[in-house]
Amino acid sequence: MLCAGNDKTLTFIDNVLKEITQLFPSKYIHVGGDECPKTQWQKCPKCQARIKSLNLEAKDGHSAEERLQSYIITHASNYLKSLGRNTIGWDEILEGGLAEGATVMSWRGESGGIAAAKQHHDVVMTPNSYLYFDYYQSLDKANEPLAIGGYLPLETVYSYEPMPKELTADEARHIIGVQANIWTEYMPTFKQMQYMALPRLAALSEVQWSQPALKDYNSFTNRLTEFTHLYDRLGYNYAKHLYNVAIHVDSDNKWREILIHMTTAGNAEIRYTLDGTEPTANSTLYTGAIVLQKSAKIRAAAFRNGKRSSVTSQDISFNKATACPVELLQPTHKNYTYKGGATLTDGLLGDKGFGTGRWLGFSGNDLEAIIDLKQNTDVSSVSLNTCVDKGSWIFDARNIEVSVSADGKSFTKVASKSLPALEEQTPDNIYTYELTFPQTTTRYVKVTATSEHNIPEWHGGKGKPAFLFVDEISVK
Ligand SMILES: [Zn+2]
Repeated sequence: MLCAGNDKTLTFIDNVLKEITQLFPSKYIHVGGDECPKTQWQKCPKCQARIKSLNLEAKDGHSAEERLQSYIITHASNYLKSLGRNTIGWDEILEGGLAEGATVMSWRGESGGIAAAKQHHDVVMTPNSYLYFDYYQSLDKANEPLAIGGYLPLETVYSYEPMPKELTADEARHIIGVQANIWTEYMPTFKQMQYMALPRLAALSEVQWSQPALKDYNSFTNRLTEFTHLYDRLGYNYAKHLYNVAIHVDSDNKWREILIHMTTAGNAEIRYTLDGTEPTANSTLYTGAIVLQKSAKIRAAAFRNGKRSSVTSQDISFNKATACPVELLQPTHKNYTYKGGATLTDGLLGDKGFGTGRWLGFSGNDLEAIIDLKQNTDVSSVSLNTCVDKGSWIFDARNIEVSVSADGKSFTKVASKSLPALEEQTPDNIYTYELTFPQTTTRYVKVTATSEHNIPEWHGGKGKPAFLFVDEISVK
């Protein structure tokens, strides 16, 4: 951390920026300004003296130290302006007040970009949820080069719409473009970087130059299969998930069925098995949605000119709650809502990545789910999984409770379990909790999992609410 109270720091910043502008002729100079911890500034007498002399105050949700960062960025920005250049920085530069004329890159979702555009600042949208090409492209991580984490398939990139609905036409003019980021700390070679960039970069291009109403993912993938011949000719290393089978899983709550849809680029022939065996050219031909009423191990592959693609695997696990409707009494976090309550009974088990769409995330709220088993059912056990990822503020539940009801209104508690506060040495993992009770006949089952509302002292988020991630409720 640079000492923001020391005048020599300002001279140092000026000198660095001067050298940079001599090296690079660009109109924009990126000053970063992200992930700046304020702890040192809170303790430093010089920084505190600067806060005092500038009359910086904690207000409007920003601390005095965040306003001190704004002072530093404004200084840098004014200096760049005197050299005829424009400043650009990550969305953290909004905190404590945006320097006049600065352009913002919105990476922590879109909210920073929206706030900046409303203040009539130019914005480049680069949200990590759509445009971080260092994230995994497939959920089959065992067969992917090691990456930082996340999950960003081609289809998600293609679905991005850079003009937020929240903005008026006048404010939307300030969204000047989109950008994808590839941080290469997990990419030792240029070939691997190409693999992470392609073909997601092609999807980004269509996001940039197509009107939203004209975007069509199916048409894109059909054209992309032709386009990759160019990649081949140029010797590019690119990801080929496009040629595999994509498996989409839906629940039909009315008939308590799981529906499986399969697609592949160019509508090539798809063949599959349901018993976990490798699909061959003689396996069942996919002709339309597959209806499942029991567990299955789906294995599917596309066949083109007698050549088989990689195999896509998807296990579906059935229990008495599978494909039953689920009502959530408390809201999920908006970024981790996915299919809502149905996510908990869709037959798909959440794996180690909490952001894969398999887990429901709660923050400040608890899981309170009512499952309608659709008919009177004998039950004696309920289990659910939690995902713990301490670095991402995702803690375990503190209390789990199961109750039953004949009418869905008045519930009787049948089992509960309290859990101790998470300790620093508790490993990040998936934890399964099964609560058993004497067999009872019921139509409705309510499952409550209380989140950690007060993060323990040893963690950076101490005193704040933690996330709770839960998946697949199993009723037996
Ligand atoms: Zn200082």
